[in-house]
Order: sequence, then C-alpha cells, then structure tokens
Amino acid sequence: MNLRHRLKRTLRDLYSLAFVYSGVARLMARRGGARLLILAGHGVDGAVGSKRMPADLKITPERLEEILRALGRYAEWVTVGEGVARLDSGQGCGLVALSMDDGYLDNRTQLLPLLEACDARCTVYLEARPLETRRVSWLHQWFWLERRLGASEAGRRCALELKGNSAVLNEVLAAGADAAARGLKRRLKYDLDAEPRDRAVQAVFEQAGGDEAALCEELYLGVEDARELRDSGRVELGGHTWSHEVLTTLESEAAREEIERGRSTLEELLGVECGESFAYPFGRRWDHSAEHAQAVEEAGYQSAVTTHAGLNRPAGDAFQLRRWMLTETLPVHLLVTELCGGFGLLRRLGLDLVE
Ligand SMILES: [Zn+2]
Repeated sequence: MNLRHRLKRTLRDLYSLAFVYSGVARLMARRGGARLLILAGHGVDGAVGSKRMPADLKITPERLEEILRALGRYAEWVTVGEGVARLDSGQGCGLVALSMDDGYLDNRTQLLPLLEACDARCTVYLEARPLETRRVSWLHQWFWLERRLGASEAGRRCALELKGNSAVLNEVLAAGADAAARGLKRRLKYDLDAEPRDRAVQAVFEQAGGDEAALCEELYLGVEDARELRDSGRVELGGHTWSHEVLTTLESEAAREEIERGRSTLEELLGVECGESFAYPFGRRWDHSAEHAQAVEEAGYQSAVTTHAGLNRPAGDAFQLRRWMLTETLPVHLLVTELCGGFGLLRRLGLDLVE
C-alpha cells in the first residue's frame, strides 16, 4: 500500500470514529434525505462448502451478526428492490440492504438464521447455470485446483491444455510462484477466450480427480433452497447472469444472452416474482459498460448493483448502484458513517475518502 493510500485510510478511520462516537451519526441518522446503503458479500463461513471458498468470499457469522445488529440501530433493513423503490418515491432516510452474490448454499444454512435473529433482509443474486444444470463456473474449479495442486502447478497444467493459447499464462509462470499465486486467476479471467479457458480448466480439474456435481452440491443453492429463501419473506432473489462471465470480455450479443438467459432461467425455475434487481458479475467499472446496463433494463430488471463503494441517493443511476464489500476486518464505524451521510458531507466538499 503506498503512502498516499495509507494516509487516506488513516484519515478515513479518524474521521469516521469521530463522526460515530461524538454522537453526530445518531443525530444525522434520520435527517438529510433519502439514502440507501447496500452491503455486499458472497458466503457466510461454517457451512459444508465453506472450505472451498477463498477467504475474501466469506465472512464469519459472528462478524456478520455484529454488523447487522449495529446497522439495525441506525436504519431500517430492506431488500435492494424495496430500497430502490423507496428511493424513487423519496421516502427512505436511513435504509440499509444486505446483498449476497452467486447463490451459495450457506445463504440458506448460515445466513437465513442470522437474518431471522437480527430481523434483517437480504437480496441474493443467483447465478442461473449452477441452479439449473449443477455446473460450476471455471473459477470454482480453479479455486479447487489451487488448493489441491498449488497455483503454479495448476497453472502449468492449464497452460499445457491451452497449447497455442498459453502465452499469457506462461508469462506469469515464468515470473515465479508469488506472481503465479497473484496473477494467474486474473489472466484466466480477462486475457483468455472463455471457451478454450473453460475447456482447459475443466480438463485439468477432471484429471486431478475433481467431481463437478459434488462440488456444486457443496457450494451452491438448489432450486428448493432458493425457494425456501424466497418464501422466508426475508430474501429477495435477483439475477447475476447465466454463467458469471465478465460481460466486457464477451461480444455484445453474447453478453445480452448471458443477462437474458439468466433471468429467463430464474423465472422458469422459481416463478415470475423473482428478478427485480441484477448484479453485474465481478461488478467493477471495467467488468461492464453502458450497453450492458441497457440490456439489463431491457431484460426487465429495475436496478443493477456494482462493487464500487458509496451511498445511493434518489438522483443516482439505478443501474449503477454502489455497494460496500463486506470483509472480516471492515470496521463497522465506516459503514455507520456512510449510512448516516458522513462521507457524503466530505464528497460535497470534493473529498472522497471511500473510493
Ligand atoms: Zn458473482
């Protein structure tokens, strides 16, 4: 982390500690107009499949409960769809929504009891393919291979399978084990065509003894699990494409097909009442574009979420909603400061301590 970044972090921490513990946050909690804070995660630790998930894709139940209880003292829990509707109508001072991406089984086994205990709500963005076909994305086969073989060996085997397309992987492999651990996933994700990459990772996964159906059962919700979440009354189901490809790496028509097929599959499997909101796979600025936002809207969604942090206001773009990614170490006082408008005050002065 460079010096400028460290300074910004320190300033952000000191400011938000002062904002929360001086009592200003509580004073501002019901003032300052409509706003919606959206939190984002993937899985809750402690389920059968949790050991398959990298640390940055899960949060412990204890930590999540602490966050849910703390924010519930300052705001009202809504789903993303409800929150956006409330923003549109101008009523919504102090709204907070939790969201979970991909549709992991722990969302039913670990998350749902927590939502009940904390009287909270959540939007679960479902990748449609695992739900329908019990296939997992290349990414989960890669995570499995990394654990089984180590990143370098997994990368070497994938490079062999890719034959003439392996230059981008060989470049990272030549730079040593540390570079491989950091860089291979990124190269697989952005620099290779989906079809040869999927075929190579699948082949290496199977040669190493991987069982895709078993992995999917451990990791992902089934149709009945998803229905149970929806029927709990605490969970809104949303779309997250068919197979979780980075939309900007696809041709326009293929990206549109990913978005539309994801939605139509959810409707077929789960009923027409799901699918108000959509989450862009990976969600960074460079992972989607304006034409994808348009395709999402034309597919019938009312809103779409990114993975850029910030607070959502009525005037904002409903197809570029901001979300704070939850991590095990993210301090609650930062979330309370954002929720109660503290960082918004600074943004109006031209200072963004969040992004
Ligand atoms: Zn995702």
